[in-house]
Amino acid sequence: MELESILLPGVDAKRPLLIAGPCSAETEEQVMETARQLASKGIKIFRAGIWKPRTKPGGFEGLGVEALPWLQRVQSELGMYTAVEVATAKHVRDCLAHNVDILWIGARTSANPFAVQEIADALEGIDIPVLIKNPVNPDLDLWIGAIERIYNAGVRRIGAIHRGFSTADKKIYRNLPQWHIPIELHRQIPNLPIICDPSHIGGKRELIASLCQQAMDLNFDGLIIETHINPDKAWSDAAQQVTPEVLDFILSNIVIRDTTQTTENLSALRRQIDELDNSLLELLARRMRVSREIGQYKKEHNMPILQTQRYDEILQNRITQAEQMGMDAEFMKTVLVAIHEESVRHQQEIMKM
Ligand code: PEP
Ligand code: MN
Repeated sequence: MELESILLPGVDAKRPLLIAGPCSAETEEQVMETARQLASKGIKIFRAGIWKPRTKPGGFEGLGVEALPWLQRVQSELGMYTAVEVATAKHVRDCLAHNVDILWIGARTSANPFAVQEIADALEGIDIPVLIKNPVNPDLDLWIGAIERIYNAGVRRIGAIHRGFSTADKKIYRNLPQWHIPIELHRQIPNLPIICDPSHIGGKRELIASLCQQAMDLNFDGLIIETHINPDKAWSDAAQQVTPEVLDFILSNIVIRDTTQTTENLSALRRQIDELDNSLLELLARRMRVSREIGQYKKEHNMPILQTQRYDEILQNRITQAEQMGMDAEFMKTVLVAIHEESVRHQQEIMKM
């Protein structure tokens, strides 16, 4: 796939790409205040659900187009970019009419090829970043199929969002991470950025920090985290949202391991190990040659191969020496016994000649 960067002008290129904002836009005040606090923490991309897919009817299903002008205020007053979930062609048109910057396709939608195709058709000829969540079921081909449908519509700025997979067992996670699936996605489409959604994986705010760290350790490109000024009072997904303050605390505690740096240092260290192993082999080969000369001497002087006292001395002295050098006595004994056995084998060969 010939993909283009999903980064927008002014958004920091270094990992992680950050998207934050409420599960749902609820009121103009909630949207503006959440965005204001996030902007003050340096967040550049604001997410908000406008249309909410709910498991059962009667839940808060989002305010719809009414809330889109609030996102335009977030753009114009705070200089943030906005990201909204789309599930139908109409959603796409409404978002484009209100200058939404990034679209994402939700997990229930990406599980449905008809719906994804409808969105793809609505995106034909439109250049906007589109993020595709994994389908609710752990089906990598279905996820890739959704990505391909959007790609085939001509969209090139594509990213994936890993939000975990639906499970009846909600003991720990709301949606099982099954990390091997996004890892395999990365193997199959290496240039596709993958963003982790710890909020929907965890389902509870206590899990977000450790999920963020795991995603960063697995080299994910970004994080999308649900953030609300008053999480407990949120109209949807209350248990998993965090305040902008807590988000900032979580982000400042994430360790971003520098992969290039680590690889470089690691390969330098590995080169040292290779050289040392090489020296060890050469030394052992030399030791065996000397051992064969001793065998020759013993043969000529009619001496036995095994001289127990000498062997005991070597073992004792070398084990003590090894311990002084910080190595384990048992380990050194194993090594010396193996070397001695091989020496004896060489000398036996000489004796037989
Ligand atoms: C959301 O991001 O609020 C959402 C509905 O997520 P998902 O599609 O992952 O369930
Ligand atoms: Mn949500």
